[in-house]
Amino acid sequence: MRAGPSQEEIRRHNLGALLRHVHLGGPTSRAELTNRMGLNRSTIMALTADLTAAGLVREELPRETGRAGRPSLVVRPESARVYVFALDVGVDRLVAARVGLGGTILDRREAVRRRGPFVLDEVVGPLAGFARQMHRKTRPDTVCVGVAAAFSGGVSRSDGVVRFGPNMGSVDVPFAEEMTRKLALGLPVAVGNDANLAALAEHTRGVGVGCRDLIYLHGDVGIGGGVIVNGQLLGGHQGFGGEVGHMIVNPKGRLCGCGSLGCLEAEAGERAVLEAAGRFGARIGRDAVRAVVDAADRGDIVAQAALSRVGDWLGLGVANLVNVFNPEMVVFGGMLREVYLGSAAQVRSRLAVDALSSSRDGLRLRTSALGDDATLVGAAELAFAQVLADPLEVLARAGS
Ligand SMILES: [Zn+2]
Repeated sequence: MRAGPSQEEIRRHNLGALLRHVHLGGPTSRAELTNRMGLNRSTIMALTADLTAAGLVREELPRETGRAGRPSLVVRPESARVYVFALDVGVDRLVAARVGLGGTILDRREAVRRRGPFVLDEVVGPLAGFARQMHRKTRPDTVCVGVAAAFSGGVSRSDGVVRFGPNMGSVDVPFAEEMTRKLALGLPVAVGNDANLAALAEHTRGVGVGCRDLIYLHGDVGIGGGVIVNGQLLGGHQGFGGEVGHMIVNPKGRLCGCGSLGCLEAEAGERAVLEAAGRFGARIGRDAVRAVVDAADRGDIVAQAALSRVGDWLGLGVANLVNVFNPEMVVFGGMLREVYLGSAAQVRSRLAVDALSSSRDGLRLRTSALGDDATLVGAAELAFAQVLADPLEVLARAGS
């Protein structure tokens, strides 16, 4: 028989849980933490003292309680002192940010990424340069506890190797290894698929807070996704789960970048929207998609027909997902935010026809609350994962 967790394991777990509460929920009173965590007051006091001594949180008197008696101290994350680097490799942009504990973006840099053949140095070089610039500006008493990147491509969970991506074809790019080497911060770079990380970001900080079963659909040049089941991201055997963009919705349809016919991204991705609107070629990217939605809003019947057609395929794809996963919420992010806003009626009518009524009962369709930063916020959360799992150990390592 296996022995139960030791006192030390319980303490480590509780330290992480408390830190997670203030990281995600912001400044919280000790009394509230006692309630939420189901621990007694003296335990909360001891845990807070340990985290305070480590410089992860600080305690202060609340500004205004409005109540008589001794007010409960408020525990707040040391956002300016403890931070991570979050990197975002999108199809059209590269972003690096310094994000404080609690999720505050303290500093950020951004560059346009041109579409063309993938060159690892053209991605790693600028991001490492941005991170170094921001690192040089930090005060000596600050500490970096993690680095993570969101990558618009399929990322192997075990080694951070990118196996495929838009404009990349099928490749094996040792992105995590190269990024770690170029950054030279003494911290390994964790890497995740951008849509997967955006799903987690919407789940923990965005429109899906409190929602245990959620599907996030992310439009970039293609369509990615993240499936959250009972609060956990569905990664699959090697971490490639959630590639909803390659779900085939039209077997006799348009050729997809993956080689199949009629994948959701071939029928409802950026190119499909622009071609259906007769606008492919001149402008590409999210602004071009926005222009189609704007034109439809102004009464342009070609743009309206294009969105209706694309919304039909999008609705069919969502109906399949709803039947399989019975989510509480489906979130449209990235470029799909605009597409959904322009085709909501079509998506809903498809769902009404093609999804089982039991599976769509109570379903909420929403747009991303974090907008274009969902992937970046997701990368930051991945970078914070270790310090939230074992705060004192990770801080001791980072500070040494
Ligand atoms: Zn495909």
